[in-house]
Formats: sequence, structure tokens, C-alpha cells
Amino acid sequence: MIELTHIGSSWDELRANVQGAVFTPETPGYDEARLAWNRNVVQHPAVIVVARSAADVQTAVRFAHQQNLGVAVQATGHGNVRPADNCLLILTREMNNVVIDPVAQTARVESGVQWGAVLEAAQDNGLAPLLGSSPTVGAVGYTLGGGLGWLGRKYGLSADNVVSFELVTADGERRYASAQENSELFWGLRGGGGSLGIVTAMTIRLFPVAEVYAGNLFYPAHMAQEVFRHYRSWIADAPDELTSSVLVMNFPPIPELPDFLRGQSFAIVRGCYCGDMANGEALLQHWRGWQAPLVDDFKQISFRQAASISNDPVDPLPGFNSGAWLRTLSDEAIESIVQYGLGQDGPPPFVFAELRHAGGAIKRMGVETAVYGNREAELLLSLVGVAPDEAAHQFLQGYTAELMDAIRPSLTGGVYMNFLEGTESQQRIKDGLAAGGYERLEQVKARVDPDNLFRYSFNVPPIE
Ligand SMILES: Cc1cc2nc3c(=O)[nH]c(=O)nc-3n(C[C@H](O)[C@H](O)[C@H](O)COP(=O)(O)OP(=O)(O)OC[C@H]3O[C@@H](n4cnc5c(N)ncnc54)[C@H](O)[C@@H]3O)c2cc1C
Repeated sequence: MIELTHIGSSWDELRANVQGAVFTPETPGYDEARLAWNRNVVQHPAVIVVARSAADVQTAVRFAHQQNLGVAVQATGHGNVRPADNCLLILTREMNNVVIDPVAQTARVESGVQWGAVLEAAQDNGLAPLLGSSPTVGAVGYTLGGGLGWLGRKYGLSADNVVSFELVTADGERRYASAQENSELFWGLRGGGGSLGIVTAMTIRLFPVAEVYAGNLFYPAHMAQEVFRHYRSWIADAPDELTSSVLVMNFPPIPELPDFLRGQSFAIVRGCYCGDMANGEALLQHWRGWQAPLVDDFKQISFRQAASISNDPVDPLPGFNSGAWLRTLSDEAIESIVQYGLGQDGPPPFVFAELRHAGGAIKRMGVETAVYGNREAELLLSLVGVAPDEAAHQFLQGYTAELMDAIRPSLTGGVYMNFLEGTESQQRIKDGLAAGGYERLEQVKARVDPDNLFRYSFNVPPIE
């Protein structure tokens, strides 16, 4: 525990040197500022800096170094790895500028920007970013972990489509990382999380996608195993234009939901086709000519409405996340995923158990280009629950471990870092990276952050 009193006078020095607000435990607003979107994250930073600019980030990093404090960074708090306790926490939420270059088809996105803002600005120019299922996720945090979205099989990961990062390294210097400049940093930022520095902005490629054929098919929960098997044959030769998923979903019994969803479970197929609309519609025949779904809202939509595909929650909640890459989707694995996904006795523990289809352009990207790993695996299991207290969290951890044991023969041993949280993401980083990637990242880390200032992100202590 850091003794705060002896550096108390320095807070004023910090306040005087940054444009943004500074909160310490005794200042009003501290308790609101330390909240993460994921309400399971309880953190007590020694000091919080709401950065307004890259210069603020530099000042904060230099200050932390002098005071021997670690540095954590948060855009939204959707993906916390380690609570920001006893450190300097930089909040980037006020660095929210987006500039589109319609000619180069790129966007420069500051570090506090949420995907929804990039989507809006890009769509105004007939272009699309590679966002994921939720527009309120931070664009930079998502990209540093890889970034798997609805255009992923066609255009690759968000990390694969970064032109450059602007960042502040542990020495407080501003650097630029691209394929040509600081290329080793660039390699390590693409899937390696934020352990090499604080990204202040990134420039990403955009793609000419205005309309997509997208939506959901709901089937009764009792058909879930059949639906998963039928899904397996659907994606066996799916074109890259189709990125899709299959899930068992347990809607909570809350009054905000319409009657037909409240407290009900379903098997759902969802997807997004970004090619010719007639071809997208033809692909749906696999389902429409099979069994009539309870709900079929697949149709041509503007990509501006991409968030309607998953309808992720917008308001903060105490989330639990886990997952793993699958090698095969055997009948036995389907049985276990469905059984655990729907729950056995009593209320279902997960909100959903989803298999996302990757592959395509993600798989074709050379493994040398980025530290991101597991490109050859095509099916990603994502488990999401709500854990309002520690007991619920522990129960979900145990329940997940049981499911993982049951499907062990189908697992590759790899994980997707963006879909993990807390202790699991601290422990499993090697399984999220390319072969040899962790060791190479340790070498980069030793050069740019030898004191491991950025130890609150993916855990990569520098090699001794
Ligand atoms: C509802 C929901 C939907 C999601 N959907 C998808 C999806 O479709 N596809 C997908 O790939 N992922 C998805 N995710 C996971 C999401 O991408 C990760 O949780 C991501 O880390 C969130 O980034 P953030 O900036 O919003 O969160 P934060 O918690 O603020 O940051 C997440 C991580 O990034 C680091 N970081 C943030 N900003 C910076 C910075 N400027 N410099 C250095 N490091 C930084 C933080 O230290 C932290 O480790 C989803 C998560 C949720 C909760």
C-alpha cells in the first residue's frame, strides 16, 4: 500500500500542469471518476487524471514515474484487466476527437472515442470502421486487444487495419508507431494490449460498406443442439462477406423487456453479410428452407444500425466474461455448450454462450505482422454472465471451468484476450498471443518500459 500523505503536496503540482481534472480520494467526484463500465471492477487509484490532450498524458506519465506509481488507463472500463489500485489512473474519455479522411479512407481516432462516434462519422462518408458488437466500447482498447467485429471475415481485425498509433511511452515521450517507424512497437500494440504505452490516437483504415444484410433468427431453446449443428454446416463454406455467430441466450426476467423475451431462452443465429444484397438473402435460405424461426429479422439495413445486430447492453453492469478458441465443433461440444449455456437446475448462470465465426481475412493475415495470436482457429466461444457480487462471480468461474473441462478435446488451448477479464486475463496472456509473441513482447517491453509502469494492462513484465 502506497503511503499517500508524503506526496500530497505534489497533487497540486500535477493539477497545475494538466488541462484536465485531477481527483484524489479526498476530492469530490473521485468515487464517480473511479467507476468502470463493468461494475465488477472496484478500484481505488491514488490519483486520477482526466486527460484532455497528449500533453496531459505526458505530464501524468512523467509525474507517475517520479512518484514511483504505476500507470493505468481507462477509456470506458468495458475491459478491465487489473483494477487500478494505488496507481495513477488516466481517463481518456475527454480525448474524443474523430477526423475522417474520405480520400485516404482512414479515420484518426483519439483514445477516448467510443466506436459509435467513428461509425457515425464514417457512415456520413459512405465508409465503415471495423467496430464490434457494441458502439459504446472504446475504439482504441478494443483494437489493442485485436478487435473482432461484423466485417471481420471480409476485412480482418481492427488491429490488422491500423495505419499508425500515436502513444506516450514510459519515459514520457510522444512516439509514432507504424509499419515503417518504430515497427517493433507497432507489432506489439496490435493485439498485445496497452502494456507498451498510452495510446493517444490511432489512424485506422475504413471500408466502403453502407448497406449490409444482417439480423437474427430466433429458434426455441429446445432446438438449440439442432440449430448449432445446422450452423456448423452453414459456415463450412461461408463466403468471407458473411461474419456470423450462433448462441444460446437467456433473457433476464426484467420488466424492461417485452413479454415474449422476458425470462425466456432461445437459440439464436446472427450475422452480417457485406456483399451483394441478393447473395446475402440467398444465404439465408439455408435457414428459411430448413425450419421456420420464431423471429426472423434478417434484412437489408444501413451499416449505421450495426449495433442492432447484437443489441448489447448500453448501461453499466457487473459483467462476467470468459471464453476460448475451438479447434472443432463436435456433437459432444455442442451438447455441453448448449447444456451449460441454458443451465441445468434453476436459473441459467450465463446470459449467453456464443460461438463467433472468425477465419477469412483474419486467418490470411501473416502471423509475423502482429503479436495477435490464434489466427488459424475459426470458432470463438464467448461466455457472458452477470455477477452482482463476489459469490456470484466465483460461482460463474467454477461453472465456466466445468464447461471448459467438458469441451476440452475441442479446445485449441488459445484464448481471445478481449473476451477475458480480471485474473483470467492476467494469467492467460501467453495463450492469446502468436507463437513466440510473448517472449518478443518481453524484449520490446524491456526497451520501452523497463520499470513496468504500464503493469495494469495485459501482464508483460519486462525480461530481466
Ligand atoms: C458489451 C461488450 C461488447 C463487446 N463486443 C466486442 C466485440 O464485438 N469484439 C471484440 O473484439 N471485443 C468486444 N468486447 C470486448 C472489448 O473489446 C474489450 O473489453 C476492450 O478492451 C474494451 O476497450 P475499452 O477501451 O472500452 O475498455 P477499457 O476498460 O477502458 O480498456 C480496456 C483495456 O484497454 C487498455 N486501454 C484502453 N485505452 C488505452 C490506451 N489509450 N492506451 C493503452 N491502453 C489502453 C486498458 O488499459 C485496458 O486494459 C466487448 C465488450 C463488452 C463489454
